[in-house]
Amino acid sequence: DLRSHRFMATTSGKNTTNYDYDYFVVGGGSGGVRSSRIAAQLGARVALAENKQLGGTCVNVGCVPKKLFCYASQFRELFHDAHGYGWPKIDMNYNDHNWKKFLESKNAEIQRLNNAYEKNQKDNNVEIIKGRATLKDSHTVIVNDKEYSTKHILVAVGGCPIIPNIEGREHIITSDDAFFLEKLPKNVIIVGGGYIATEFACIFNGFGCEVTLILRGKTILSSFDEDIRAKLTDELKKNGINILYQTEVERIEKSSDDSFRVKFKQDKTPMDTNLVMFAIGRHPNTYNIGLEKAGIKTDDNGVIKVDDYSQTTMPNIYAVGDCTDRKALTPVAIQEGHYLANMLFGNEQPRKVDYATVGTTVFSEPAIGTCGLTEQQARETYGVDGYDVYESTFKPMFVQLSKRDRKSYVKLIVDRNGQQRVVGIHLMDHAAPEIIQMCSVAIRAGATKDLFDHTIGIHPTSAEEIVQIR
Ligand code: FAD
Ligand code: NDP
Repeated sequence: DLRSHRFMATTSGKNTTNYDYDYFVVGGGSGGVRSSRIAAQLGARVALAENKQLGGTCVNVGCVPKKLFCYASQFRELFHDAHGYGWPKIDMNYNDHNWKKFLESKNAEIQRLNNAYEKNQKDNNVEIIKGRATLKDSHTVIVNDKEYSTKHILVAVGGCPIIPNIEGREHIITSDDAFFLEKLPKNVIIVGGGYIATEFACIFNGFGCEVTLILRGKTILSSFDEDIRAKLTDELKKNGINILYQTEVERIEKSSDDSFRVKFKQDKTPMDTNLVMFAIGRHPNTYNIGLEKAGIKTDDNGVIKVDDYSQTTMPNIYAVGDCTDRKALTPVAIQEGHYLANMLFGNEQPRKVDYATVGTTVFSEPAIGTCGLTEQQARETYGVDGYDVYESTFKPMFVQLSKRDRKSYVKLIVDRNGQQRVVGIHLMDHAAPEIIQMCSVAIRAGATKDLFDHTIGIHPTSAEEIVQIR
């Protein structure tokens, strides 16, 4: 019974245990920060250990600096677009950008957020302990050689980029390094085709660098809907991104002060480049932190096994976010951590996170947004005759005058034989990240195609296509 894991004593505001803390949270990223703060607000005595900067991956080397990089990289094209609207013609290339100034501004913004996170935790009575935490046993955490006893533990240690074991691996950079480059490279090779590789390909391309994306398979973003992948691939190519398929790097050699030669396993011509970035997935930061001493089981990749309520194989220890095998997204880690704190220290019934309707975006150029089932998943769920597809490809109004060759795309998947609910929405458009958020509310609410059809659009927008597709 999960309710039995709740720390009932805290609801009366009194501590009845002999532990130093009610809740010890390891990792001050998206999941850990939220969970520790909510627990403390509910009256628990909470410690939060963090060995780097508060805010974790998202704030320091993830969502936030990435979005700032996206914004920065988009101006070059916007200057070009402006000409079609009567502004002077300005052609920029990567040399025109002041990378140092941009990085200083970005770093100052991240520092501001780090400070705000720290203040917010302290204002809510979360005790911050700086240092790397390890578990001694199921009720003891060690930080900087000091032992702390605790009733509950949350492991929210996140993950880090995978670097392959190939010759020349010391020349590889990952997304962590990309946020701190000394200068913008002229030429970049990015290995991988997931979220990070696709976003950074667009970022470097936007700045005016020459970009080659190297895929081991036949497609970018293999977990996304096949049509949205194909449409985005067309746009990436139009932007000038070079894509090599079914290609694997064998080794990397330094060929001069600022260039590398990349050799492939396949019989393909080696390539010279200024920067080799790998973005081939991430693994959890669970190595050597004492999980086994605390009775916590992981899979072979170090991913912590949890149940629907984030409970590990040790009943008083929980795990949320990227160190578990769910959706590696900031709002997901936050909700897992929040629900957990409520379950342990609040009066709420335990709640399960609804992973099926999580909306997500790739901040590519143009961006894509997706929620619910892909067409392949609809085929598997409803059978080939069990769903309908509505789609529309159109030119966004913004590029009509600027003459940019750009397409937008909307695809709705509808459960044909049931209540005609919209079970999947896939968008490609500059505004897709903003639009898909409300689409996820509609899908969660079980909205039908008829409801979409009778909802009046907002004109002139890209979003109105969603309610106009017939
Ligand atoms: P993290 O945020 O990684 O936090 C874990 C924390 O634990 C870290 O601060 C780490 O230093 C600390 N830690 C680790 N081990 C220890 C230890 N032993 N002792 C003490 N502290 C420890 N998600 C989105 O939703 N939208 C995006 O746009 C997006 N963009 C991304 C871009 C990039 C380049 C990357 C890499 C990720 C992006 N993500 C994005 C994913 C998102 O950042 C993660 O899903 C999210 O940060 C996971 O939160 P977490 O709490 O599980 O872990
Ligand atoms: P992803 O899981 O998204 O993608 C990994 C990519 O690497 C895939 O294209 C995969 O290819 C490829 N790959 C895996 N192993 C190898 C290998 N050995 N050699 C060559 N290619 C390989 O991982 P990312 O690192 O891009 O991102 C990690 C997670 O962070 C994402 O899944 C996402 O949850 C989160 N994130 C979210 C963002 C957002 O919300 N906008 C932005 C950035 C990250 P294949 O398809 O063939 O398996």
